[in-house]
This record gives sequence, structure tokens and C-alpha cells, in this order.
Amino acid sequence: MNMTRTFQRPIKRIVVKLGSSQIVDKKFKARRERLNSLAKQISHLHKKGIEVVLVSSGAIALGMGELAETRRITDLGALQARAAIGQAVLMRNYIESFKKVGLKCAQVLLSWDDFGKDARTLNVRHTLDALLQKGVVPVINENDTTSTEEIKFGDNDKLSALVAKLLHANLLVILSDVDGLLDINKKVYREIKEITHEILTVSSGTSNIQVARGGMKTKIDAVQIAREKNIPCIIAGGNVQDVLVKITSGEPVGTYFKI
Ligand code: GLU
Repeated sequence: MNMTRTFQRPIKRIVVKLGSSQIVDKKFKARRERLNSLAKQISHLHKKGIEVVLVSSGAIALGMGELAETRRITDLGALQARAAIGQAVLMRNYIESFKKVGLKCAQVLLSWDDFGKDARTLNVRHTLDALLQKGVVPVINENDTTSTEEIKFGDNDKLSALVAKLLHANLLVILSDVDGLLDINKKVYREIKEITHEILTVSSGTSNIQVARGGMKTKIDAVQIAREKNIPCIIAGGNVQDVLVKITSGEPVGTYFKI
């Protein structure tokens, strides 16, 4: 059975969230092939008239790689310092990959305080809109120097939902190490219409791996935030070949949280 998915609204603007393990390998080095493939897919999406905003972690992990560290430390200030080191490395890698396909990207660092109802939020939106208008791919990360929520909890899951809401995105895609939300038999839910007690229960385990952070719980939290603005979400495996192209073509990849 290979049914095509339909979306309520045409997909014109998507927010794609990439956790650290999507970008960085176990040795804390950039996953160059993955980034190149991502850039290629985004170029393909642009040609189809779809704007893409990335919300990408990986700064801390890459910072650790720069310092030749092999284990994640726990001290918050030290993690923030790794993020400051790694953010530049992260952007250098994105710039390189996008250059191969003739695209440009821009670094945007945000914190949760930027999402109120004041002028600050408006400034964020204006900047992102202007970047998209120029065909530039915004690469958003939490500003780990001033804000530490995602370091502690989410690996940018919540941030991606706030960005999707702010930009009135038509879809939020959260790329993960697993192929979607798994039921108790480890089978991927293909479509979820409501976040029921069962869904909350199966998502409540968190990740403990060195590079990957967040786990399913924070992803479902993000889905719930996006749904407040009727934004459908897909949690899918980042290792699926051409995952973004497939998703935007309606192929039944990952778990679709339908509106
Ligand atoms: N903003 C952080 C990063 O990009 C969050 C991820 C983490 O805690 O490792 O590295």
C-alpha cells in the first residue's frame, strides 16, 4: 500500500528541524554527505516554488569536535562555550554545501524571548521574510550564549515550532534518527489526527545518546505548538533518501500529524 498524502493547504513554505545527530557524526564531525544531500533537496524544492527555513542544532557537538573532545560535558557554561565555537563551524559547513548547488544561506540566532508579541518578534519576521524573498535559506539555531532552554531540554524542537508559527509555515518537518513515531510494537504511526493519551505515552521516553538530544517527547511538544496554528507536522527519518523531496511530493514517509 503506497497511498499519496494530501495536505489541506498547498505546501509553499516549510520549516525543517535538524537535530544534532542529523548534522554531526559520532566523532563530532560534520556529516558532509548528509548536508550536501540536504542542500541538493532544498535547491529542488526551491525550483518547485517551496521556501525552506532550517532550524539546525549541531553547534555544541561540532564545538566538541573542534576541541577533540569525545564525551559531552554537563557544565552549562562549558556547553555554551562549545556552542560558540561550533556555531561558526556549523555555518561554514552549510555555506559550503549550499554553494555547491548555487544557494546562499544566513545565520539567524534566536532565543525563546524573541517570540513575544512585541517589536522584537516583528523584527525576526521581517528579517526572515526578507531572506526568503531573496531566495536565501535561513539557518536558525538557538542563541546558546544568552539562552539555554534547548541545551537543557529540546535540541531545538520547540524553537522549530515557534518559527513555523511565526512564519505561517504550511508544514513543519522534524527529522529524526528514527523513521517516525513508533507504537508499542515499534511500528511507525503513518497518520495521527489527535494527540491522544496513547500518543503521549509512547512518546514519553527520552534520548540519552551522546550526540542526539531531545527525544520524542519534545518533538510531540513541538507538534502540539504547531497545531495551535493549524500547521501539520511530519516526523521522519533524516536518513531516508531524498526525504524532503518525498515528503513535499506527498509520499507517505514518517508520521504525519494531520490537521
Ligand atoms: N543549540 C544547541 C546546538 O546547536 C542545542 C543542542 C544541544 O543541546 O546539543 O548545539
